[in-house]
Amino acid sequence: MSTTATEITDIKHFINGQPTAGSGTATQPVYNPATGEITGQLHLASPEDLAQTVAAAHAAADSWGEVSIVKRTKVMFRFQQLLTEHTDDLARLVTSEHGKVLSDAAGEVARGIEVVEYAAGISQSLKGEYSDQVSTGIDVFSFRQPLGVVAGITPFNFPVMVPLWMAPVAIATGNAFILKPSERDPSAALLIAELFKQAGLPDGVFQVLHGGKETVDGLLSHPDVDGISFVGSTPIAKYVHETATKYGKRVQALGGAKNHAVIMPDADMEQAADHINAAAFGSAGQRCMAISVAVAVGEAADILVDKLAERARGVNVSHGFDEKADMGPVITPASKTRLQKIVGEAEQAGAALILDGRDLVVKNHENGFFVGPTILDRVNREMSAYTEEIFGPVLVVLRVDSLDEAIDVVNANPYGNGTAIFTSSGSHARNYTRRIHVGMVGVNVPLPVPVAWHSFGGWKNSLFGEHHIYGPDGVRFYTRGKAVTQRWPEPAQLSTASYSFPSN
Ligand code: NAD
Repeated sequence: MSTTATEITDIKHFINGQPTAGSGTATQPVYNPATGEITGQLHLASPEDLAQTVAAAHAAADSWGEVSIVKRTKVMFRFQQLLTEHTDDLARLVTSEHGKVLSDAAGEVARGIEVVEYAAGISQSLKGEYSDQVSTGIDVFSFRQPLGVVAGITPFNFPVMVPLWMAPVAIATGNAFILKPSERDPSAALLIAELFKQAGLPDGVFQVLHGGKETVDGLLSHPDVDGISFVGSTPIAKYVHETATKYGKRVQALGGAKNHAVIMPDADMEQAADHINAAAFGSAGQRCMAISVAVAVGEAADILVDKLAERARGVNVSHGFDEKADMGPVITPASKTRLQKIVGEAEQAGAALILDGRDLVVKNHENGFFVGPTILDRVNREMSAYTEEIFGPVLVVLRVDSLDEAIDVVNANPYGNGTAIFTSSGSHARNYTRRIHVGMVGVNVPLPVPVAWHSFGGWKNSLFGEHHIYGPDGVRFYTRGKAVTQRWPEPAQLSTASYSFPSN
């Protein structure tokens, strides 16, 4: 699966334990965003491929759900080891197709491995509950069983981590899992499939099916798919949630974000500027938890903007394999154009363009989709730079007078994925964390992505559905509860059957 300028990789599905081009004739190019070159041709699934994949998953789910927990978790232990050994291979695939710098790609693999480690301990989460003698001679126990077949539809920005937010928990709880990865960077999904197989996972339990809307629609409406985990942009998350719900499926659909960091005047400004800069421009701002809005309170603003600009000017933008690179390209030329347009509109509407990365060119990578760090100050809430999810290396600064005003601004925003407050006051921090309508909150931590044994999820337009992803919510999502009321009467016991509703 190597990708050089001259070699174009044939990117296949992974159906029932085998890589296959499937029966479809449609393909789609995959690019290296740092060079603008086509590096792969992706096979898109036909309806027959989809039917075959779901049928294999359905058959595999029946037997996999019967495999003992101990054997299921043994696969996770081996898979964890293989992922660790192949971290560099996975990271290279991510950097080649996504563009993020290699160390960042390795970081996403590491965060994904944490979920596998959680899944290796799934026995703790599946212990169930038991009530003895709820009535004379009657006990009740409850436990959870797998849904059956679940599909995961994932975004381009974390081609390893997001699939690993889903599949290990789904599989360890006894389900078969179909991954429909992003068409933009699909290769890492195939290595994950190979590693699951090497770890001893039976064929059909983890499969990869490539495609776009048509394939997604096929999964959302298929009667043998029981659950859908989606991560991507808000309009598609909403659509996936509505459609799969209509077809009677359990759905969790994580959407887009506009993450605010509130900076109080009492914050350690050096620390705040360091962290906000890294959280805004790391991975070229293409993280669902990236800080894209700095809400500067009172006199924090001037100091903060100066310090942010100083740091952002020092960000080294280059291709992801450059060891000195801090940040790589954005994903597509369309992404770059959209970003340039939004920054231009903000400037015209009166925002102060403190740093302009729109026309950045990286030497020897003139055809890459690069945009440099960009900072817009004095942005208001009507500008598209504020209302839209930019998803690129653009940080907007809003100025407010008080913590109360900052809280009102964040709570009025339709997204509610992540947020952070920078302060040295415990009282401000507590006030903020309690009153803010956002699912994940950091206190002097800019990217508060929960560890694997907590769950990840936003509020409002950042999540459609009941359940957050991975951790305890992931276990609940991929399983259904069952409560058993049992009696084992002694032969000599009098029957207590009654026409009245039984009471204790
Ligand atoms: P996207 O919504 O364009 O695509 C996500 C998935 O949906 C892909 O697999 C894609 O093939 C599929 N898809 C696209 N259009 C579709 C359609 N019309 N019908 C059915 N399926 C369709 O998202 P993206 O650009 O790949 O990823 C970036 C977005 O994902 C950003 O909005 C980002 O905030 C969000 N994201 C959110 C989280 C989170 O945890 N909330 C995490 C990562 C990314």
